[in-house]
Amino acid sequence: MGKAILFSAPSGCGKTTIINELMGSEASEHLDPKDLTFSISATTRAPRGEEQHGKDYYFLSREEFMQRVGKNEFLEWEEVYSGTCYGTLKSEIERIWNEGKVIVFDVDVNGGRNIKKYFGGDALSIFVMPPSVEVLEQRLRSRGTDSEEAIVKRLARSAEELKQAPAFDVTIVNDDLQRAVAETRRVIEDFLAVRS
Ligand code: ADP
Ligand code: 5GP
Repeated sequence: MGKAILFSAPSGCGKTTIINELMGSEASEHLDPKDLTFSISATTRAPRGEEQHGKDYYFLSREEFMQRVGKNEFLEWEEVYSGTCYGTLKSEIERIWNEGKVIVFDVDVNGGRNIKKYFGGDALSIFVMPPSVEVLEQRLRSRGTDSEEAIVKRLARSAEELKQAPAFDVTIVNDDLQRAVAETRRVIEDFLAVRS
């Protein structure tokens, strides 16, 4: 079994931004981002902005998604918003560990708790916290990629999700982005140093 780092938070808290910054950063003595590989989830939602199939997500029809659920191809899956499913394919885990890399997950709060339960001490679970609910709303709106209906669904879900932060190994407050990325890097370096 390899190692995994998982990021969870309500939508708009900055998981994707922090992961992209981290993966695109220079190697340090203790962490080479080339050793980390993003787990590409499957989803039934449509691509947003510049998103690409096979890079950001595997974009599947609901029929195909459900067929794969039936074939037991998912480690976990959730209907995160009514009508929209997301899930982690077991094949992603095999692909990444076969390459000897550390898996990076971006999953919703329930998915994060389930994956942590499954991997135990082999996973570091990170909760990304917004500085406030008001800032979270501003960020969701300024991202400019979601319809008003999608924003309302996301905000409605966030209050319950924020309460679950204590179930994670670490909480990172995403106020200043560079500070949050530096702190994320430190906790990952500590985790990998202990684990290797
Ligand atoms: P998530 O992946 O958790 O849904 P995103 O990474 O898409 O969230 O971030 C939501 C929006 O907030 C994006 O427009 C992003 O550019 C912006 N954002 C993320 N982190 C910060 C930050 N620290 N300061 C200001 N804006 C941020
Ligand atoms: P978005 O539509 O903003 O990309 O993602 C919406 C939510 O679905 C986010 O909280 C994201 O972390 C979550 N998500 C993405 N992939 C998965 C997955 O494979 N499993 C679960 N449980 N949630 C996921």
